[in-house]
Amino acid sequence: MNASRAITILGSTGSIGQNTLDVVSRHQDKYSIVALTANTDVDALEQQCLQWRPEYAVMSDQSSAQQLFDRLKAAGLDTQVLAGTEGLNRVASLDQVDTVVAGIVGAAGLLPTLSAAESGKRVLLANKEALVMSGRLFMDAVHNSGATLLPVDSEHNAIFQCMPYQLPELPEHSGINRILLTASGGPFRTLPLEQFHNITPEQAVSHPNWVMGQKISVDSATMMNKGLEVIEAHWLFNVSQDLIEVVIHPQSIVHSMVSYADGSILAQLGNPDMRTPIAHCLAWPERIDSGVEPLDIFDVAKLEFEKPDLDRFPCLKLCYQAMQAGGSASIALNAANEIAVEAFLQGKIAFTAIAGLIESVLGKITITDANTLDEILTADQSARELAKSHIHNLQTV
Ligand code: NAD
Ligand code: MG
Repeated sequence: MNASRAITILGSTGSIGQNTLDVVSRHQDKYSIVALTANTDVDALEQQCLQWRPEYAVMSDQSSAQQLFDRLKAAGLDTQVLAGTEGLNRVASLDQVDTVVAGIVGAAGLLPTLSAAESGKRVLLANKEALVMSGRLFMDAVHNSGATLLPVDSEHNAIFQCMPYQLPELPEHSGINRILLTASGGPFRTLPLEQFHNITPEQAVSHPNWVMGQKISVDSATMMNKGLEVIEAHWLFNVSQDLIEVVIHPQSIVHSMVSYADGSILAQLGNPDMRTPIAHCLAWPERIDSGVEPLDIFDVAKLEFEKPDLDRFPCLKLCYQAMQAGGSASIALNAANEIAVEAFLQGKIAFTAIAGLIESVLGKITITDANTLDEILTADQSARELAKSHIHNLQTV
């Protein structure tokens, strides 16, 4: 690598953000941090600013931004503090930035991630919800601007690593006949179905193999995460959903596989630690140390693979249905899921009500085109309102 890469981390206080900073801290000759962002956690962003002294810090929340500004000023830092979506879009598209890590969770990440894609950055995509919502629009922005899109999500990163370096327009032309998307099955893979109703938020967020933010942890427990990842893979690699097969692999050592016409299956293996895919994307096409323990295959010894049980994980089935329906259906699915997960984490609805709520929203919405940003944001908003009124009705009966 020649010059050092200048980085904006969207969502720097989250799990992806912190793992990125951990990798960057090992290679300060190669990377510099230009901007860090967070939603409301002033303490965490202040600490990161004191350590990394970025040019910009953004807080989505206005009053949090004011607090951060006061504290950084008192500490004698000349970091510019910006606020809101405008601030996020600005640091995602700064001229002096060449790499943007999209690590915000949920729909909140859509606009800044799109901004990075439109400005031709190297986009390290963790924020799968952004791609699920804006699929075609986002991929068109990448192609039109000449941006480089690199998948951080461990499965998609594995698939990317198992694909030919120069990918033709259609993956089938490389002899790819199947993508095997692995899933751990989450904490409830073997829990008796009759106990699902009593699952608590604490149980749902404690994933057996990965340490992640709360929302993706619940998504992993319902397997909504895998469904969103099927949609993510469809857009990233331009493959139809029929070619994407979900494989339950409880050990989380094989991070996904690509099957070829000649009978070969290529897999990427490693310890379950997000610093590997993050380091891969940061340095691509080179390789750098990520700080991750090397995998001891003798220690692992046994790798298991099973077909998913769609009755146990109805959210996965709903994702396939939304993809099939096309248009705004995936946007509604994602929006309803965000509302449902938040309500579950706040103790307002049961774990088993998450899938029911999404299904009810999908049953009620009118599916529209979702090609423009306006259409996408409108579809997102109306599905959120429907989901909220559904929760309200559940609570008043
Ligand atoms: P997290 O909850 O740990 O962190 C989220 C970050 O986004 C925080 O910095 C938070 O301040 C910021 N944020 C939250 N709401 C925001 C808002 N409204 N406006 C602006 N910023 C906001 O989440 P995470 O686990 O790091 O996940 C981030 C994204 O990466 C998600 O889309 C997730 O699906 C994806 N991902 C995460 C992992 C993982 O290991 N954590 C793995 C693969 C993919
Ligand atoms: Mg993943």
